[in-house]
Amino acid sequence: MVAAGTKGIGLACATELAKEGCRVSICARDEAKFAVAAEHIRSEAPDADLHFQVCDVTSRNDLQAWVDEVNQSWGGVDILVTNTGGPPAGHWTEMNDDHWQSGFESTVLNVTRMVEMVAPTMKAQGWGRIIHITSVVAKEPSALLPISSTLRSGLMSLTLLQSKELAPYGVTVNGVLPGHTMTDRQVHLAEVVSARDEISVEEALTQRGQTLPVGRLGQADEIGAAVAFLASKRASFISGINLLVDGGQVNCPS
Ligand code: NAD
Repeated sequence: MVAAGTKGIGLACATELAKEGCRVSICARDEAKFAVAAEHIRSEAPDADLHFQVCDVTSRNDLQAWVDEVNQSWGGVDILVTNTGGPPAGHWTEMNDDHWQSGFESTVLNVTRMVEMVAPTMKAQGWGRIIHITSVVAKEPSALLPISSTLRSGLMSLTLLQSKELAPYGVTVNGVLPGHTMTDRQVHLAEVVSARDEISVEEALTQRGQTLPVGRLGQADEIGAAVAFLASKRASFISGINLLVDGGQVNCPS
């Protein structure tokens, strides 16, 4: 199951898992996006067995319906990738109560709910992989992303707690922390910087890439590849980590 999987990092995770031979169920709020996502995945994994579900990850009912559907159709869940859109950007003084509340619902509550819903079947089958897509800002807070920085830092603790609890059942729980990755979200953040610093969006994107040790922005499939590895049988001895996939931003700053 890959949440919010019709574009960006979610789509890349779904594609990489399909390439590994997984049956992949993807959720998104907008049914119209399914055909394009399927076309993209099948361009790289022609025989992909795909399932789509309309689901807003902030809705407990939607999430439960999705999990029920996958359990019924496929007899359980082996791999869960929690993912969603990023919380609003701006200085923390610009964030109001609604921003914080919706940020909590979209980045934390969906994670607790989804794990609560899939853990029983994973425990019963004695195998599972849970991967939370969070952010580099969990380790290096960003003034532009106060809600994401605060909540994703907390999600590292939740990942550890879930990992400890589920490890004895053969279920690993890990976080993947993307750095600056070229998706619509990255373009949106560049638009915010463009308005703030009076530079073009292209300049903002280029400058961002140049600040990273690798000298460029990441690509979504580079995040998906890390997720596919953590979801694999080969990653059976890895649990409770928060893996930076950030082009060296945090661990080898210039
Ligand atoms: P994106 O904006 O390109 O894609 C996000 C997807 O989530 C979209 O398809 C959107 O429709 C969907 N979505 C949003 N809210 C949803 C909801 N309530 N229910 C269902 N679907 C919903 O973003 P992305 O770059 O792919 O980012 C994915 C995640 O990774 C985000 O949480 C983001 O904060 C995080 N992240 C991204 C970057 C980056 O540079 N792109 C860096 C660090 C962390």
